Amino acid sequence: MTIIIMKFGGSCLNDKNAFKKIFEVTKIYENVKKVYVVSALRGSTDLLLKMTQDIDKEKELDKTMAIFEKKHFDIIEKIFEEESEEFNKTKDWLDRKLSDLEDVFGDVKEFGLEPYYKDYILSFGEMVSTYILNQFLKSRGFESIFIPATKLLITNDEFNNAYPLYNLTNARVGRLLIPLLENPKKSTIVCITGFIGRNKIGYTTTLGRGGSDYTATILAHSIYEMGSDKDIKVILWKDVDGLLSIDPNYIPKASLIRNLDYEEAKHIANFGAKVLHPKCLEAIEKKRIPLEIRNFDKPLEKIDYTTISGYTDKSFIKGISAVEDAIIISITSGSLVDVPGVLAKIFKIMSKNSISVSLVAQSASEISTSFIVKKEDAEKALMALDKSGYFSDFFEIKNEEVAIINITGLKVLDNLTKVKIFQALEKKQIKVKALTQSIEELNFSLVISKGKLIDAINVIHNDLYEDFE
Ligand code: ASP
Ligand code: MG
Repeated sequence: MTIIIMKFGGSCLNDKNAFKKIFEVTKIYENVKKVYVVSALRGSTDLLLKMTQDIDKEKELDKTMAIFEKKHFDIIEKIFEEESEEFNKTKDWLDRKLSDLEDVFGDVKEFGLEPYYKDYILSFGEMVSTYILNQFLKSRGFESIFIPATKLLITNDEFNNAYPLYNLTNARVGRLLIPLLENPKKSTIVCITGFIGRNKIGYTTTLGRGGSDYTATILAHSIYEMGSDKDIKVILWKDVDGLLSIDPNYIPKASLIRNLDYEEAKHIANFGAKVLHPKCLEAIEKKRIPLEIRNFDKPLEKIDYTTISGYTDKSFIKGISAVEDAIIISITSGSLVDVPGVLAKIFKIMSKNSISVSLVAQSASEISTSFIVKKEDAEKALMALDKSGYFSDFFEIKNEEVAIINITGLKVLDNLTKVKIFQALEKKQIKVKALTQSIEELNFSLVISKGKLIDAINVIHNDLYEDFE
């Protein structure tokens, strides 16, 4: 492995000891080329978000700003020798950035919180944390350089949830980053801000909350495309061992998933495992770039971490995840049968109202169609169906609060696994209201009543214990 893109989350920068651990990690990976993607200090992005909400409440704003300032000054006082060159440089940088931030507040007061102001404000957390880490590495004798992602990562205009423009990003990475990584004479660590990018015009954009994982994989993709060295890996340093088979809030002794492939990982990340940014795998999947999720407290760990790659053990169930707050809407009518376009109509109404539909189930008899929306969208969805005028009195539209259990892993495609799942549910008399499994998916989703969720997860986990990795 010769190039490693490592992402350090907010809790990896939180105190002096955390910086010491980054020093250790840097030593452990001494002989590889390193790109460090850095999140904001823990809680910083929330503080910035609060500032955007309190622009007109001067006292509140000052208070939050003071907390943000203190958080960063505290850290630099702890990690640098007083009056050292790095300390002074970092202090100046912080002063300058904080005053830039205050200038934006002035603009927002004058012009309103336009989406680009919001993203610009949110970007300050990573701008300062990454600068601090870069100076820290220098102070410990490493060759290191700071590059804000606004120079590298070009996105579309969707502020707050921007999507990378890969070709343009590749070109920038080829121009600015590859020469640093391929310099045979120097081994420079490149410190890059997570979470942020810029659009073509030059406005700062952000990739969505938790977006630093995504930055790491987007950069890995572009380095692969543009560089000559294809031996690349991503490591996400987290405060957990890796992906767990079940959220420990449901089952405290849930097991760690050591290996899963991109497909399985996407299912698990999408369903609220919350350890991984759901979009971040798309960038590395096609190139087969492996990604590790590792515990920052155990940098030398040999076994207990998660690897996402092209390899998976097909004989196991990988995980169970749950969606707690779902509403199932069912539309039933004899007149649905063999009428083309009914589903199109339903989903068009949802799409027009910006409502995302997750699970969909329709019987082959076409008498009824059921689909799931988020709880907070349900009222809007029902109103929109009603107002559309399309569904006459011959249609019955019902809705119910439900939960979804999602069981992931190739093993779930076996009939016998399904038999065991249903036998387990039967023990607790849990009825399945709807279910889906499509040809492509290694995922089995069951809709049950909301009140039965905990029971269902426990009984499936207990009865199928051997089938989990
Ligand atoms: N700082 C950003 C957030 O808190 C991005 C990240 O941490 O990945 O959402
Ligand atoms: Mg974070």
